[in-house]
Order: sequence, then structure tokens, then C-alpha cells
Amino acid sequence: MIFVTGGAGFIGSNFVLDWLAANDEPVVNLDKLTYAGNLANLASLQNDAKHIFEQVDICDAHRMQALFEAYRPSAVVHFAAESHVDRSILGPAEFIRTNINGTFTLLEAARSYWMTLSDGEKAAFRFLHVSTDEVYGSLGSSDLPFTETTAYAPNSPYAASKAASDHLVRSYHHTYGFPTLTTNCSNNYGPLHFPEKLIPLTITNALAGKPLPIYGDGQQIRDWLFVSDHCAAIRCVLDKGRVGETYNIGGHNEKANLDVVRTLCDILDELVPKEQGLYVEQIAFVTDRPGHDRHYAIDAGKIERELGWRPAETFESGIRKTVQWYLDHQAWVADIQSGKYLAWMERNYGQR
Ligand code: NAD
Repeated sequence: MIFVTGGAGFIGSNFVLDWLAANDEPVVNLDKLTYAGNLANLASLQNDAKHIFEQVDICDAHRMQALFEAYRPSAVVHFAAESHVDRSILGPAEFIRTNINGTFTLLEAARSYWMTLSDGEKAAFRFLHVSTDEVYGSLGSSDLPFTETTAYAPNSPYAASKAASDHLVRSYHHTYGFPTLTTNCSNNYGPLHFPEKLIPLTITNALAGKPLPIYGDGQQIRDWLFVSDHCAAIRCVLDKGRVGETYNIGGHNEKANLDVVRTLCDILDELVPKEQGLYVEQIAFVTDRPGHDRHYAIDAGKIERELGWRPAETFESGIRKTVQWYLDHQAWVADIQSGKYLAWMERNYGQR
């Protein structure tokens, strides 16, 4: 039995589905169900006894402790977080609460449970903290890609809150010998991605005939990784990673945001051509967000060399699968695009 926190979110739900497809070990999914948590992502597991859902806030120390005692997991994979940079600029408090205090509360509950284990169980236990490459800040034009020893320089409240949580996790290993692993991954994309993020927002807005917002000049470069490759990397680190280590995960797919949007438009032109014109004509440049990092690039050499992980998808294959998934799941999108999400879009981009 393993614990997965944030297992109703984008990467967490993909991970739960992948895990249960590949493993007999049950998952206890611990999720508060914020705006980003969606149990519809896991509808296919409705009758699967190996998926147990507990609605819980990771900041609730009392309940977290009780859950560890009740289920006695052999590992924790920690995804739960506030994850959207734009939201962290408008309201950082929730990011500090969940990403820093929540990770601290979870670490405390996990460590006190771990102390009660037998020596053999203690040695086998793992706490895997899922983090981001955004903790490293922005690369200058002559800088090499981020490695595990690159100095932290977070530039948004989101990145700073994740950096703080990474440091807490590190300290629990160094101070208490608690068996932690940390992964820092580049931008994910793929099925079940909440449509406030660049790729699903572009696909859904394009199909709805709405503007495709691009921040600033659109030349911000990100590395992109298909979500199932991230899930496989996490399983690999959980299985073979060295305790106390951190592993960078990336897809060798550096792309400017504008190029990503143009690629999506080209695929949509091919799959669902408009009666008149091209999707690219819907692109609308909007004021850049404050502190927007220009360039992230990740060196995933350590996980490739030491653990033998490699991404299975190229950007070209993954992005096609993603577009097709959104075309096939328009009801999933429609259910999300109601209420709170529309109010957020209106405030942020001035559109509904
Ligand atoms: P997401 O926003 O889609 O999902 C987050 C999940 O956490 C939701 O289900 C939400 O309900 C849950 N949650 C939030 N606050 C909680 C709380 N206090 N208690 C319990 N559950 C809570 O996020 P995501 O994009 O799936 O990211 C998951 C993790 O991966 C995050 O830690 C993020 O920092 C990290 N990450 C994301 C990316 C990316 O590109 N999305 C890249 C690298 C790392």
C-alpha cells in the first residue's frame, strides 16, 4: 500500500492510473479536492478496490497522523501542491500554506509513523517529493541546463514555495535519516491537464473560437515532458533511486511558448480544419506576467545514467496524443469549464 498525495490532480491522477496498471500494490489517494482536483479523472477506477480515496488537507496534522496509523503505507509519493504560477502571483498565501506548511505537516506525520516501523520496514520505506525545475530560476543565454547541483534561485511565489519544500525534505534526510527522494521535473503536458495551463488552454480555446493568449513575445523557452514519461520516471526513482538524492527529469524538448502554440494550431488545422481561416489567426499577445522566467532547460543525465530512465515520447508524438485526447474528451473539458474556472479566466485574461 502506498500513499499518493494530490492524486486527483493532473500528474497525480495520471500517476495513480499508471501505477495501478503496472502494480498490484494498492494506492491510498489523499487529496483535498481544490479547484484543481477532479475525481472524474479516476472514474475508470470506480470499482477498483486497489484505489482508496481519502479527502483530506495535508495541512491537517491530526488526520494525516491518523491516516498513517490506519493504512501503514510502505511509501509516500507527494504531489499535492498549489501548482499554477499565475495564481501564485495573484494570491501567494495558499501556496505558502499547502506547499510549505503542508509539506512540513506531511513530513512530520510520515516521520513519526516511520519511527514506529521495524528496522526492515524502516529501511524499505520511501518518501518521494515531486518538485519542479522552476526552483532553479531562469537560465542566461550562455548558461548550461540545470543539473542537480545548480543553485536554487526561484523567481515566483510558486517556485519559492516549492524550493522551500525541497529544502525541508532535504533537511529531514540529513537531520533524521528519513528516507527521502526528490525529483525536479520540467513542464508536463498530456491527458487530464487542467485547461488553465498553456497547452490545454490553447487546444480548448482554439476549438471554442476564442483568442489564444500568449504572454509577452512568446519567446519564453520551456522543456516539455509527456506526463506518462514523468510518471515512469517517478516509479523508477521510487524503485531504484538512492535515498537522500535528488533527480532532475526532463524531455530534451526545449520549445518557445509561441512555437508550442503554433504547433498545436497546425495539428488542429489538420485534424479539425475550420470552415474559414487557420487557428493561428486566433493568437492574441497579452501583457507579460511579472517576473516571467525566460528560459528553463534541464539536464536529465543523472537519472538516465544511474537509473536507466529515458522518455518514451518525443514532443511530436506526445503533442499529437494530447490533442487527440482533448478532441476525444470534450465532455471532460466542458464539465471543468464552469463556475470557478470561468471566473478565474475572466479575472486573469478578461475573457470567458
Ligand atoms: P495540480 O494543480 O493539477 O494538482 C494538485 C492536486 O493537489 C489537486 O488534486 C489538489 O486538489 C491537490 N491539493 C492541493 N492542495 C492540497 C492540500 N492542501 N491537501 C491535499 N491535496 C491538495 O498539479 P500538477 O500539475 O498535477 O502538479 C503535481 C505536482 O507536480 C506539484 O507538486 C507540482 O509542483 C509538481 N510539478 C508539476 C509540473 C507540471 O508541469 N504540472 C512539473 C514539475 C513538477
